[in-house]
Amino acid sequence: MDEWDDGFPSRAEHVHEGGRREEGDAMRYLSRDPFARTVLLRAVVRPLAFSQDCRWCGGVRRTRGGEPFLFRYGTEPDAIRSRVDWHSGEFCSKPCHDAYHG
Ligand SMILES: [Zn+2]
Repeated sequence: MDEWDDGFPSRAEHVHEGGRREEGDAMRYLSRDPFARTVLLRAVVRPLAFSQDCRWCGGVRRTRGGEPFLFRYGTEPDAIRSRVDWHSGEFCSKPCHDAYHG
Protein backbone atom coordinates (compact mmCIF):
# COMPACT_ATOMS: atom_id res chain seq x y z
CA MET A 1 0.00 0.00 0.00
CA ASP A 2 1.42 3.32 -1.01
CA GLU A 3 -0.27 6.38 0.42
CA TRP A 4 1.60 8.69 -1.92
CA ASP A 5 -0.03 7.29 -5.06
CA ASP A 6 -3.52 6.48 -3.90
CA GLY A 7 -5.32 8.44 -6.58
CA PHE A 8 -6.85 11.20 -4.50
CA PRO A 9 -6.58 14.60 -6.10
CA SER A 10 -4.05 16.97 -4.66
CA ARG A 11 -5.45 20.17 -3.32
CA ALA A 12 -2.26 22.16 -3.52
CA GLU A 13 -4.23 24.93 -5.22
CA HIS A 14 -6.30 25.47 -2.09
CA VAL A 15 -4.73 27.68 0.54
CA HIS A 16 -5.88 27.39 4.13
CA GLU A 17 -5.59 30.22 6.57
CA GLY A 18 -4.91 27.90 9.46
CA GLY A 19 -2.81 25.35 7.63
CA ARG A 20 0.92 25.21 7.77
CA ARG A 21 2.36 26.29 4.46
CA GLU A 22 4.70 23.32 4.06
CA GLU A 23 1.77 20.93 4.29
CA GLY A 24 -0.11 22.47 1.39
CA ASP A 25 1.14 20.03 -1.21
CA ALA A 26 0.44 17.05 1.01
CA MET A 27 -3.16 17.92 1.90
CA ARG A 28 -5.77 15.79 0.22
CA TYR A 29 -9.51 15.33 0.15
CA LEU A 30 -10.55 11.92 1.38
CA SER A 31 -14.33 12.03 1.22
CA ARG A 32 -17.34 14.30 1.32
CA ASP A 33 -20.31 14.06 3.64
CA PRO A 34 -23.31 15.40 1.67
CA PHE A 35 -25.52 15.49 4.75
CA ALA A 36 -23.16 17.33 7.08
CA ARG A 37 -21.88 19.38 4.09
CA THR A 38 -18.31 18.82 5.08
CA VAL A 39 -15.28 17.24 3.45
CA LEU A 40 -12.78 15.07 5.24
CA LEU A 41 -9.17 15.89 4.60
CA ARG A 42 -5.80 14.58 5.49
CA ALA A 43 -2.44 16.26 5.87
CA VAL A 44 0.97 14.68 6.07
CA VAL A 45 2.84 15.41 9.30
CA ARG A 46 6.61 15.39 8.98
CA PRO A 47 9.26 15.57 10.10
CA LEU A 48 8.03 13.89 13.25
CA ALA A 49 9.04 14.99 16.71
CA PHE A 50 11.24 12.68 18.73
CA SER A 51 9.29 9.52 19.64
CA GLN A 52 6.16 10.86 17.95
CA ASP A 53 4.00 8.02 16.64
CA CYS A 54 0.40 7.02 15.95
CA ARG A 55 -1.72 7.94 18.91
CA TRP A 56 -3.75 4.78 18.54
CA CYS A 57 -1.39 1.96 17.55
CA GLY A 58 2.06 3.49 18.09
CA GLY A 59 3.18 2.90 14.51
CA VAL A 60 4.52 5.27 11.88
CA ARG A 61 4.41 5.32 8.11
CA ARG A 62 7.52 5.73 6.00
CA THR A 63 8.21 7.38 2.69
CA ARG A 64 10.09 5.55 -0.04
CA GLY A 65 13.21 7.13 1.37
CA GLY A 66 12.51 5.71 4.83
CA GLU A 67 11.46 9.00 6.43
CA PRO A 68 8.76 8.47 9.08
CA PHE A 69 5.53 10.43 8.81
CA LEU A 70 1.98 10.43 10.11
CA PHE A 71 -1.37 11.84 9.03
CA ARG A 72 -3.54 14.47 10.62
CA TYR A 73 -7.24 14.46 9.79
CA GLY A 74 -9.75 17.23 9.76
CA THR A 75 -13.08 18.33 8.39
CA GLU A 76 -13.86 21.43 6.41
CA PRO A 77 -17.32 22.91 5.86
CA ASP A 78 -18.58 23.26 2.29
CA ALA A 79 -18.03 26.98 2.22
CA ILE A 80 -15.75 29.50 0.67
CA ARG A 81 -13.15 30.80 3.11
CA SER A 82 -13.94 28.01 5.52
CA ARG A 83 -11.45 26.81 8.09
CA VAL A 84 -10.33 23.27 8.64
CA ASP A 85 -11.35 21.73 11.94
CA TRP A 86 -8.31 19.57 12.66
CA HIS A 87 -8.96 16.58 14.86
CA SER A 88 -6.55 16.06 17.73
CA GLY A 89 -3.69 13.62 17.37
CA GLU A 90 -1.62 12.21 14.55
CA PHE A 91 -2.32 8.78 13.14
CA CYS A 92 -0.77 6.25 10.77
CA SER A 93 -4.10 5.55 9.06
CA LYS A 94 -7.77 6.43 8.85
CA PRO A 95 -8.85 3.30 10.79
CA CYS A 96 -6.61 4.35 13.70
CA HIS A 97 -8.08 7.85 13.60
CA ASP A 98 -11.60 6.45 13.53
CA ALA A 99 -10.88 4.06 16.39
CA TYR A 100 -9.42 6.82 18.53
CA HIS A 101 -12.14 9.37 17.83
CA GLY A 102 -14.99 6.87 17.56
ZN1 LIG B 1 -1.99 3.62 13.83
